[in-house]
Amino acid sequence: MTKIIDCVAIGEEIMEEIQTETRELKAKGITPGIATLLVGDDFGSKMYRGQVEKFCEEAGFNYVNKTLPAEATEEQVKEVVLELNGDRSVSGILPLRPFPEHISDYAVINTIDINKDIDCFHPFNMGKLTLGEAIFPPATPAAVIEILERYARAEEKVDPKDFFEGAEIVVVGHSNTVGKPTALLALNRNATTSVTHVFTSMKENLEKHTLGADILIVAAGKANLIGPEQVREGAIVIDVGINRVKVFDENGQPVLNDKGKQKTKTVGDVSFEAVKDKTKAITPVPRGVGSVTNRMLMRNALKACKINYGLL
Ligand code: NAP
Repeated sequence: MTKIIDCVAIGEEIMEEIQTETRELKAKGITPGIATLLVGDDFGSKMYRGQVEKFCEEAGFNYVNKTLPAEATEEQVKEVVLELNGDRSVSGILPLRPFPEHISDYAVINTIDINKDIDCFHPFNMGKLTLGEAIFPPATPAAVIEILERYARAEEKVDPKDFFEGAEIVVVGHSNTVGKPTALLALNRNATTSVTHVFTSMKENLEKHTLGADILIVAAGKANLIGPEQVREGAIVIDVGINRVKVFDENGQPVLNDKGKQKTKTVGDVSFEAVKDKTKAITPVPRGVGSVTNRMLMRNALKACKINYGLL
């Protein structure tokens, strides 16, 4: 029987843990906080900023919104980062990318205090992650691991350590923000980890790898990349992908909304309905990994707060 992993419940559980720890800190006169840094008005970044603000409110954190016009110079952006580095009410700094073209990501990221780098953008923190000593594991990869650890305890009744050790884990996607750090977190837990990417697919070798996976983690941003023929019977599948696709009816005709426009919906990278019965456990999209990602960011901010106040 396939287990559809309830990521929303996991996200809520983590939020309750964060709220409890936040109350304890507040009793000592300390409030964790997150600052977002937006340059310009990228739509996706503004959406994300709204989510961070909402989660800060829910957790009882301070929230600081720094927004600069698209014409701001790199020096002006770095000055704001330096100001946030020195602000004790800000535990973590979250640069919202993409920045306008004239601003170098690296110049801004390298200015962030490494103890406030809560999504692990700074090369120092990426280095710590590679060494297996991550201080702030990046939010999405950390969410993937957290989901698997909680699944191992709750469903398989095993210690997550034993669950990961020697497991055949295949990651699809090798971006610096999702695929690569996810693979490193799995490798650091002694899983036998393979990383596949677009060149694996170009050589028509994707299936060769994915079929060997006990745990298949997909983060490619390609709807329906993974069908039943790519999944081993009894595998655990974690679908990180988020894709917006057009809706068609069973005859292949576009389904229209009230305004006569074609409806769209959010799907992952895995053909969920076709794949789910082949798996032991699978995460859905929507209401999947994304329900845990923001919580991991909050957890990193809590840790940053403790580090910044000398409590860790
Ligand atoms: P990205 O930077 O575009 O990276 C996608 C990766 O997938 C690349 O490494 C790419 O390889 C690989 N890839 C693309 N097509 C492939 C194919 N046909 N076969 C094998 N590999 C292929 O995206 P990302 O930032 O890592 O995000 C990945 C997905 O996760 C997106 O859908 C994104 O929206 C979603 N996401 C979800 C969350 C969440 O919380 N659920 C958070 C962040 C991102 P090459 O580099 O070689 O081209």
